[in-house]
Amino acid sequence: MNPDILTASAGPSFDLTEDQQAVREMVREFSESEIRPIAAKIDETHEFPLETTKKMAELGLLGMFVSEEYGGAGMDYLSYVIAIEELSRVCASHGVIASVNNSLVCYPIMTYGNEEQKRRYLVPLARGEWIGAYCLTEPNAGSNAANQQTTAVADGDDYVLNGTKLFVTNAGPSDILVVYAATDRALGPKGISAFIVEAATPGVNKGKKEMKLGIHASDTREIAFVNARVPKRNLLGEHNKGYGVALATLGGGRIGIAAQAVGIAQASLEAAVKYAGERRAFDRPIGEFDAIREMLANAAIEVDTARLLTYQAAWLRDQGRPHIKEASLAKWHASESGTRCANWAIQVHGGYGYLTEFSVERYWRDARICEIYEGTTEIQKMVIAAQVLKEHALEA
Ligand SMILES: Cc1cc2nc3c(=O)[nH]c(=O)nc-3n(C[C@H](O)[C@H](O)[C@H](O)COP(=O)(O)OP(=O)(O)OC[C@H]3O[C@@H](n4cnc5c(N)ncnc54)[C@H](O)[C@@H]3O)c2cc1C
Repeated sequence: MNPDILTASAGPSFDLTEDQQAVREMVREFSESEIRPIAAKIDETHEFPLETTKKMAELGLLGMFVSEEYGGAGMDYLSYVIAIEELSRVCASHGVIASVNNSLVCYPIMTYGNEEQKRRYLVPLARGEWIGAYCLTEPNAGSNAANQQTTAVADGDDYVLNGTKLFVTNAGPSDILVVYAATDRALGPKGISAFIVEAATPGVNKGKKEMKLGIHASDTREIAFVNARVPKRNLLGEHNKGYGVALATLGGGRIGIAAQAVGIAQASLEAAVKYAGERRAFDRPIGEFDAIREMLANAAIEVDTARLLTYQAAWLRDQGRPHIKEASLAKWHASESGTRCANWAIQVHGGYGYLTEFSVERYWRDARICEIYEGTTEIQKMVIAAQVLKEHALEA
């Protein structure tokens, strides 16, 4: 834990502000009343939840840290993290739908976009009138995202994009794409640029919906670009500086995924505790058995440590302070905590945990993706080790 979080001007405190607490209450209320009733259904049907996504937009959950001037809710990053946690506690698909629009689409346009781009694209995205998607991954550019094969070639007033992006979350309903492409292949990561692409552009071809292990209601597809003409005014940030945009974007995005995992871990713990009190075996509630209690205690420490790391990373980001290591620590630990807690929740439920009637098997399937997207656990460890070595070298 960063020591400064304990030395705020009002003295040591882990309390949320009134605004942050209000966000938690509002999102919990919304998730329980509007999302809980459909969560199992959309998991089964794989249907994108258009209606509740519109409601998330009305509540300001799709542009949380964008200023009000640009259509957002003007909240801090910790409030955003709390909202993603609360959504994911009930339905991780809703968590990732909101997280991608906020972290991966609004953030780079808010940070690197010019005034015209912000007015034209950020405002409707932050209001949730348009849905955004983020196109970085390719068949040969996953963990090694710098190996972009999609090309953007200048031609008159346009760039012409050719290539294929994989695993694009929100692809189906998306109106706006943030796309990364090589503008100078010979320069590697220094030859990549970022673009704002309208999904209706001719030559932007969305593939079929992917069938996945979990987060069934989030819409994941391949998107192919075939001579798609993008106006030069839609270059996001500077020419050949797109890889920096991608990395900065993922720096914040990872905290959002950590929050998604915290929500799943919390839901798993709550379900396990409830069942341990209700289910009887050998004439006793199973919660009286040490083996069950150990799983509950293990889940409790996972939830708390994951939440502390995640809030710490968000808090540092709100202070405008470095948080590369802390974002990766949170993402690595919280994502594994989510899987572990959901796994224990299944075990506490015995055979019933294996049935779809109880939500814990969904939590386990949903948790697993947090260890993979926005940088796998192995990549988080690489980032953390590099930061630790750098810190050590600075102190030596
Ligand atoms: C449901 C879902 C949604 C997604 N949403 C999006 C999205 O919206 N936009 C987007 O751009 N992408 C998205 N992704 C892509 C995701 O970010 C990538 O799948 C992820 O980064 C891993 O890339 P890869 O699948 O190519 O795996 P690979 O990079 O091929 O990795 C395979 C294995 O090798 C390991 N590995 C790779 N390199 C190293 C190394 N140097 N050291 C140690 N181990 C290594 C990895 O950790 C992994 O275990 C999504 C993926 C999924 C499954």
